[in-house]
Amino acid sequence: MTDSDRPRVWVPRRVVATPPSYDHPHGRRIMARIEALGIEVERLRSARLTGVRGDSDRETYARAKNTMAIVVSPPSRRRLQPIAPSADWRFDLAEGCPAHCQYCYLAGSLSGPPVTRVYADLDDILDGLTEYAGQGTVTSRRAARRDEGTTFEASCYTDPLALEHLTGSWRRAVQHFGAWDAPVQLRWTTKFDDVDTFVGLDHHRRTRVRFSVNCLPVTTRFEGGTSRLEARLAALRRLALDGYPVGLTIAPIMPVDDWRSAYTNLLTAVAAAVHGVPALDLTAELITHRFTPGSKDVLLSWYPRTHLEMNEQTRTPKHGKFGALKYVYPAPLMADLRTWFASEIPRHLPTCRILYWT
Ligand code: SF4
Repeated sequence: MTDSDRPRVWVPRRVVATPPSYDHPHGRRIMARIEALGIEVERLRSARLTGVRGDSDRETYARAKNTMAIVVSPPSRRRLQPIAPSADWRFDLAEGCPAHCQYCYLAGSLSGPPVTRVYADLDDILDGLTEYAGQGTVTSRRAARRDEGTTFEASCYTDPLALEHLTGSWRRAVQHFGAWDAPVQLRWTTKFDDVDTFVGLDHHRRTRVRFSVNCLPVTTRFEGGTSRLEARLAALRRLALDGYPVGLTIAPIMPVDDWRSAYTNLLTAVAAAVHGVPALDLTAELITHRFTPGSKDVLLSWYPRTHLEMNEQTRTPKHGKFGALKYVYPAPLMADLRTWFASEIPRHLPTCRILYWT
């Protein structure tokens, strides 16, 4: 294996643990794992995280992105929220991500410096899912997804494979869902490729791992600190060969120069990656680029020199369900993109089910 073949793994510069996290077996497991990697765990005296703010926004960003905190999840996170169209319910095992995507979905959603927080109360979180089985609307309403049972999304505020080597949390979640005697599905999406510890688990096809992919002009320009596209697709193949249902989250779709050729190259690479996989269960979720006034401000403070297009004049304002303003591509361009993906995905990936477009 050469260095470029090795999965990309994050090594935080600072790891802290809050006192309540010591009370949880999983908190202690994470600490032991971190210390076994030769990283010191700073035990804080209170649940308040200090020493993250720097003299400038850039310095605060850099410090926060290099810090991991082992904490207990906030009570609000234990009451699950519906998360259409991806899944029936959202639950969280962490919040924050060490990568540097210039369009990051977390910008504007999470408050404060972007520290990665991993949850010590994993066992309680997983036990708490039981009452939600059999409830939810996304998978029961859509015929194409009824066989999935109740779906639980575990990557809304983080990237699981960016953190798994430090926490072991998602591996335990896969085992939990694999042993769960009910029609349920665990789902997450990732831009990383460290799948070694998932191959061979008793997943019982109840975990769908989706790889967030994009055409090369987007992934190479805007997705700093993530695994290369080729590595993500190799990881997708490994999991598919191990019997996992897999998926593509093609996001954020952007009409870059010559976008038809760029996305054709992506679909060709995916087709090669899944070639010959027996009983392949592949889905696609298609998400166009959008931004809000809040996310634009945060992203420009994190990446002041970005070339990411966020021009309100060339976009269409749209109000979400709760009145929040976002800027999307104008309707004719959206229609062009949508029509193209709807015809090209079946051509390149005949068994792939498109779950939604947004
Ligand atoms: Fe944000 Fe996802 Fe990129 Fe992490 S991988 S920086 S969560 S967009």
